[in-house]
Amino acid sequence: MIECKNLVKIYKVDNELEVMALQGLDLTVEKGELMGIIGSSGSGKSTLLNMLGGLDRPSAGNLIVDGQSLLNMSDKELVQYKLQTVGFIWQNNARNLIPYLTARQNVELPMLLNGKRKKARAIELLEMVGLGHRLNNRLSELSGGEQQRVAIAIALANQPKLLLADEPTGNVDTKTADIILDLFRYLNNELGVTIVIVTHDMKLTKKMDRVVAIRDGKTSSEILRRKFFDEQ
Ligand code: ADP
Ligand code: ADP
Repeated sequence: MIECKNLVKIYKVDNELEVMALQGLDLTVEKGELMGIIGSSGSGKSTLLNMLGGLDRPSAGNLIVDGQSLLNMSDKELVQYKLQTVGFIWQNNARNLIPYLTARQNVELPMLLNGKRKKARAIELLEMVGLGHRLNNRLSELSGGEQQRVAIAIALANQPKLLLADEPTGNVDTKTADIILDLFRYLNNELGVTIVIVTHDMKLTKKMDRVVAIRDGKTSSEILRRKFFDEQ
């Protein structure tokens, strides 16, 4: 699903000082894998996730996701990629949600952008994240944990093959964290979605197929795990 070779990302700060956030990173992720990325603050985890999600472009190297080379994509192709191939979940999703629209309307938006209007699917997704009773509440009326679940429904709206999550349980209570965990398990096991999660949460990393550590913009070590999810 992901083939990342010698990936380099350089940020220019004030057109002068350069930060080399990724320094020739190699990473392969198989289709259907559920993998974790760990590493200390500033090691390049978010930068990598942003590259994978097409939010920003690599400076050099090779990056192929689902057979598409992200380095050679036109802007238009990149927009399509973001809408159709990947789903993105952040720790703090407030930026992606529109407070005065209802939960259902928020979930419909990405489908509208993709040329589809699917009220029924929006409802189905919100039921899947346990918000069937909150469909017509405005976002501003929902708790933080509920908003996080709406954000997950949004990320899934266009049936992404790859789900990217940056500290998805970092800001939520344990109950919501468990719901999110169950959801990842379902998506991975039942729907075959490939999932890459940046996290410090041991409860989450324990459940992954594989955990890769990033250090100074490079992959530094790798831990293989049993697939805990299958044991339950
Ligand atoms: P992590 O997610 O592991 O904390 P990041 O990918 O956010 O690490 O950051 C890696 C390095 O790149 C850090 O030195 C950070 O300061 C720098 N960096 C990240 N984003 C930007 C940006 N938009 N402009 C300049 N430097 C950045
Ligand atoms: P932090 O790493 O400080 O917890 P976030 O998890 O909110 O911050 O964001 C992680 C990375 O994703 C950052 O590099 C940020 O620029 C990017 N990001 C977060 N939200 C969005 C968004 N809505 N659109 C684009 N990029 C985002």
